Amino acid sequence: MDSTRKAERNRMVDQYIIPHGVKDPAVVAAMRHVPRHRFVPGEYSLFAYVDGPLPIGHGQTISQPSLVADMTAALQLKKTDKVLEIGTGSGYQAAILAELADQVLTIEIVEPLARQAEQTLAELGYRNVRVRIGDGYQGWPEEAPFDAIIVTAAPDHVPQPLLEQLALGGRLILPVGRDIQTLDLYRRTAEGYQRTTLTLVRFVPLVHPGGQ
Ligand code: SAH
Repeated sequence: MDSTRKAERNRMVDQYIIPHGVKDPAVVAAMRHVPRHRFVPGEYSLFAYVDGPLPIGHGQTISQPSLVADMTAALQLKKTDKVLEIGTGSGYQAAILAELADQVLTIEIVEPLARQAEQTLAELGYRNVRVRIGDGYQGWPEEAPFDAIIVTAAPDHVPQPLLEQLALGGRLILPVGRDIQTLDLYRRTAEGYQRTTLTLVRFVPLVHPGGQ
Protein backbone atom coordinates (compact mmCIF):
# COMPACT_ATOMS: atom_id res chain seq x y z
CA MET A 1 0.00 0.00 0.00
CA ASP A 2 1.04 3.59 -0.56
CA SER A 3 0.71 5.73 2.55
CA THR A 4 1.93 8.98 0.99
CA ARG A 5 -0.44 11.97 0.92
CA LYS A 6 -2.28 10.59 3.94
CA ALA A 7 -2.95 14.06 5.33
CA GLU A 8 -4.61 15.14 2.05
CA ARG A 9 -6.77 12.04 2.09
CA ASN A 10 -7.86 12.67 5.66
CA ARG A 11 -8.67 16.27 4.78
CA MET A 12 -10.74 15.07 1.79
CA VAL A 13 -12.69 12.72 4.05
CA ASP A 14 -13.23 15.33 6.79
CA GLN A 15 -14.17 18.12 4.35
CA TYR A 16 -16.24 16.31 1.76
CA ILE A 17 -17.05 12.70 2.56
CA ILE A 18 -18.32 12.97 6.13
CA PRO A 19 -20.21 16.28 5.62
CA HIS A 20 -21.76 14.66 2.55
CA GLY A 21 -23.45 12.22 4.94
CA VAL A 22 -21.41 9.04 4.57
CA LYS A 23 -21.44 7.45 8.04
CA ASP A 24 -20.48 3.79 7.58
CA PRO A 25 -17.14 3.58 9.47
CA ALA A 26 -15.74 0.89 7.16
CA VAL A 27 -16.44 3.01 4.05
CA VAL A 28 -14.93 6.07 5.71
CA ALA A 29 -11.83 4.04 6.64
CA ALA A 30 -11.46 2.76 3.07
CA MET A 31 -11.68 6.32 1.73
CA ARG A 32 -8.91 7.35 4.16
CA HIS A 33 -6.79 4.40 3.12
CA VAL A 34 -6.87 4.03 -0.69
CA PRO A 35 -4.33 6.31 -2.45
CA ARG A 36 -6.53 7.93 -5.13
CA HIS A 37 -3.53 9.77 -6.59
CA ARG A 38 -2.18 6.42 -7.81
CA PHE A 39 -5.28 5.94 -9.99
CA VAL A 40 -5.28 9.30 -11.79
CA PRO A 41 -2.97 10.34 -14.64
CA GLY A 42 0.16 12.19 -13.51
CA GLU A 43 -0.97 15.55 -14.85
CA TYR A 44 -4.02 15.52 -12.55
CA SER A 45 -2.27 14.13 -9.50
CA LEU A 46 -2.43 17.52 -7.79
CA PHE A 47 -6.24 17.34 -7.86
CA ALA A 48 -6.52 13.74 -6.65
CA TYR A 49 -7.94 14.78 -3.26
CA VAL A 50 -10.40 17.38 -4.46
CA ASP A 51 -14.02 16.18 -4.56
CA GLY A 52 -14.40 16.19 -8.32
CA PRO A 53 -14.31 13.77 -11.27
CA LEU A 54 -11.06 13.61 -13.29
CA PRO A 55 -10.22 12.43 -16.82
CA ILE A 56 -8.46 9.05 -17.00
CA GLY A 57 -7.98 8.94 -20.78
CA HIS A 58 -10.00 7.28 -23.57
CA GLY A 59 -12.80 9.80 -22.94
CA GLN A 60 -13.49 8.28 -19.52
CA THR A 61 -13.53 9.73 -16.02
CA ILE A 62 -12.95 8.61 -12.45
CA SER A 63 -16.00 9.59 -10.36
CA GLN A 64 -15.84 12.18 -7.62
CA PRO A 65 -14.87 10.68 -4.25
CA SER A 66 -18.14 11.58 -2.47
CA LEU A 67 -20.11 9.69 -5.14
CA VAL A 68 -17.79 6.67 -4.87
CA ALA A 69 -18.35 6.72 -1.09
CA ASP A 70 -22.13 7.09 -1.45
CA MET A 71 -22.51 4.26 -3.94
CA THR A 72 -20.27 2.00 -1.90
CA ALA A 73 -22.16 2.75 1.32
CA ALA A 74 -25.48 2.00 -0.40
CA LEU A 75 -24.26 -1.54 -1.13
CA GLN A 76 -23.92 -2.29 2.64
CA LEU A 77 -21.01 -4.65 2.03
CA LYS A 78 -19.93 -7.41 4.38
CA LYS A 79 -16.40 -8.82 4.58
CA THR A 80 -17.65 -12.11 3.10
CA ASP A 81 -19.33 -10.55 0.03
CA LYS A 82 -18.52 -11.29 -3.59
CA VAL A 83 -18.88 -8.12 -5.63
CA LEU A 84 -19.07 -7.41 -9.36
CA GLU A 85 -18.17 -4.00 -10.80
CA ILE A 86 -18.97 -2.95 -14.36
CA GLY A 87 -16.65 -0.20 -15.64
CA THR A 88 -13.25 -0.69 -14.00
CA GLY A 89 -11.89 2.59 -15.39
CA SER A 90 -8.91 3.51 -13.23
CA GLY A 91 -9.52 0.73 -10.69
CA TYR A 92 -10.13 3.17 -7.83
CA GLN A 93 -13.69 2.06 -7.09
CA ALA A 94 -12.52 -1.57 -7.30
CA ALA A 95 -9.85 -0.84 -4.66
CA ILE A 96 -12.44 0.70 -2.33
CA LEU A 97 -14.64 -2.38 -2.80
CA ALA A 98 -11.66 -4.66 -2.20
CA GLU A 99 -11.16 -3.06 1.23
CA LEU A 100 -14.72 -3.96 2.23
CA ALA A 101 -15.55 -7.28 0.56
CA ASP A 102 -14.02 -10.70 0.12
CA GLN A 103 -13.71 -10.81 -3.67
CA VAL A 104 -14.10 -8.16 -6.34
CA LEU A 105 -14.56 -8.98 -10.02
CA THR A 106 -14.50 -6.05 -12.37
CA ILE A 107 -15.12 -5.74 -16.11
CA GLU A 108 -13.78 -3.02 -18.41
CA ILE A 109 -14.46 -2.72 -22.13
CA VAL A 110 -11.46 -0.49 -23.00
CA GLU A 111 -8.45 -2.80 -22.96
CA PRO A 112 -5.69 -0.28 -22.10
CA LEU A 113 -7.73 0.99 -19.13
CA ALA A 114 -8.25 -2.56 -17.91
CA ARG A 115 -4.52 -3.30 -18.15
CA GLN A 116 -3.52 -0.09 -16.41
CA ALA A 117 -6.03 -0.68 -13.62
CA GLU A 118 -4.83 -4.24 -13.18
CA GLN A 119 -1.26 -3.00 -12.86
CA THR A 120 -2.10 -0.28 -10.34
CA LEU A 121 -4.12 -2.73 -8.22
CA ALA A 122 -1.27 -5.25 -8.30
CA GLU A 123 1.31 -2.61 -7.34
CA LEU A 124 -0.82 -1.67 -4.35
CA GLY A 125 -1.06 -5.31 -3.29
CA TYR A 126 -4.74 -6.04 -3.97
CA ARG A 127 -4.96 -9.79 -4.39
CA ASN A 128 -8.72 -10.06 -4.17
CA VAL A 129 -9.54 -8.17 -7.38
CA ARG A 130 -9.84 -9.76 -10.82
CA VAL A 131 -10.07 -7.59 -13.93
CA ARG A 132 -11.69 -8.87 -17.12
CA ILE A 133 -11.77 -7.18 -20.53
CA GLY A 134 -15.21 -7.30 -22.10
CA ASP A 135 -18.79 -6.06 -22.20
CA GLY A 136 -20.09 -5.78 -18.67
CA TYR A 137 -23.71 -5.63 -19.85
CA GLN A 138 -23.61 -9.43 -19.80
CA GLY A 139 -22.20 -9.57 -16.27
CA TRP A 140 -19.90 -12.48 -15.39
CA PRO A 141 -22.27 -15.49 -15.44
CA GLU A 142 -19.64 -18.11 -14.57
CA GLU A 143 -18.93 -16.30 -11.29
CA ALA A 144 -22.55 -15.48 -10.33
CA PRO A 145 -24.32 -15.08 -7.98
CA PHE A 146 -23.01 -11.81 -6.54
CA ASP A 147 -23.90 -10.26 -3.20
CA ALA A 148 -23.49 -6.84 -4.75
CA ILE A 149 -23.12 -5.36 -8.24
CA ILE A 150 -22.07 -1.78 -9.00
CA VAL A 151 -22.23 -0.23 -12.45
CA THR A 152 -20.14 2.90 -12.98
CA ALA A 153 -21.22 3.74 -16.54
CA ALA A 154 -24.83 4.46 -17.46
CA PRO A 155 -27.03 2.10 -19.47
CA ASP A 156 -30.38 3.49 -20.67
CA HIS A 157 -32.18 0.57 -19.06
CA VAL A 158 -31.33 -1.98 -16.37
CA PRO A 159 -29.37 -4.88 -17.86
CA GLN A 160 -31.42 -8.03 -17.26
CA PRO A 161 -28.30 -10.25 -16.94
CA LEU A 162 -27.16 -8.19 -13.94
CA LEU A 163 -30.51 -8.57 -12.15
CA GLU A 164 -30.32 -12.31 -12.80
CA GLN A 165 -26.79 -12.56 -11.40
CA LEU A 166 -27.76 -11.10 -8.01
CA ALA A 167 -27.90 -13.48 -5.05
CA LEU A 168 -31.04 -13.50 -2.92
CA GLY A 169 -30.68 -10.41 -0.72
CA GLY A 170 -28.14 -9.02 -3.21
CA ARG A 171 -27.92 -5.32 -4.09
CA LEU A 172 -27.37 -3.70 -7.49
CA ILE A 173 -26.57 0.00 -7.79
CA LEU A 174 -26.44 1.75 -11.14
CA PRO A 175 -27.13 4.99 -12.97
CA VAL A 176 -29.93 4.62 -15.53
CA GLY A 177 -30.73 7.09 -18.29
CA ARG A 178 -29.26 9.03 -21.18
CA ASP A 179 -28.13 12.63 -20.52
CA ILE A 180 -28.89 12.65 -16.86
CA GLN A 181 -29.50 9.51 -14.87
CA THR A 182 -31.25 8.33 -11.75
CA LEU A 183 -29.03 6.42 -9.36
CA ASP A 184 -31.08 3.32 -8.64
CA LEU A 185 -30.62 0.64 -6.01
CA TYR A 186 -32.21 -2.78 -6.56
CA ARG A 187 -32.48 -5.44 -3.90
CA ARG A 188 -33.35 -9.01 -4.79
CA THR A 189 -35.96 -10.50 -2.48
CA ALA A 190 -37.82 -13.81 -2.47
CA GLU A 191 -40.69 -12.03 -4.26
CA GLY A 192 -38.64 -10.23 -6.91
CA TYR A 193 -36.76 -6.90 -6.93
CA GLN A 194 -37.26 -3.78 -4.82
CA ARG A 195 -36.12 -0.53 -6.43
CA THR A 196 -35.20 2.73 -4.72
CA THR A 197 -34.05 5.86 -6.53
CA LEU A 198 -31.33 7.61 -4.53
CA THR A 199 -30.44 10.76 -6.49
CA LEU A 200 -29.62 12.18 -9.92
CA VAL A 201 -26.14 11.65 -11.37
CA ARG A 202 -24.13 12.01 -14.57
CA PHE A 203 -21.99 9.12 -15.73
CA VAL A 204 -20.41 8.29 -19.08
CA PRO A 205 -22.67 5.97 -21.11
CA LEU A 206 -22.35 2.20 -20.86
CA VAL A 207 -21.16 1.05 -24.25
CA HIS A 208 -23.20 -1.92 -25.32
CA PRO A 209 -21.83 -3.44 -28.52
CA GLY A 210 -24.48 -6.18 -28.58
CA GLY A 211 -27.38 -3.72 -28.68
CA GLN A 212 -30.70 -4.52 -26.86
N1 SAH B 1 -15.19 2.94 -11.68
C1 SAH B 1 -14.21 3.69 -12.42
C2 SAH B 1 -14.76 4.80 -13.26
C3 SAH B 1 -15.52 4.28 -14.39
S1 SAH B 1 -15.78 5.32 -15.77
C4 SAH B 1 -13.10 4.21 -11.53
O1 SAH B 1 -13.16 4.00 -10.32
O2 SAH B 1 -12.17 4.80 -12.08
C5 SAH B 1 -16.77 4.16 -16.66
C6 SAH B 1 -16.00 3.03 -17.29
O3 SAH B 1 -16.94 2.13 -17.84
C7 SAH B 1 -15.10 3.46 -18.43
O4 SAH B 1 -13.79 3.07 -18.17
C8 SAH B 1 -15.69 2.76 -19.63
O5 SAH B 1 -14.72 2.36 -20.58
C9 SAH B 1 -16.37 1.57 -19.00
N2 SAH B 1 -17.43 0.94 -19.79
C10 SAH B 1 -18.32 1.52 -20.63
N3 SAH B 1 -19.14 0.60 -21.16
C11 SAH B 1 -18.76 -0.60 -20.64
C12 SAH B 1 -19.21 -1.94 -20.81
N4 SAH B 1 -20.24 -2.25 -21.60
N5 SAH B 1 -18.58 -2.91 -20.13
C13 SAH B 1 -17.53 -2.64 -19.30
N6 SAH B 1 -17.05 -1.40 -19.12
C14 SAH B 1 -17.66 -0.39 -19.77
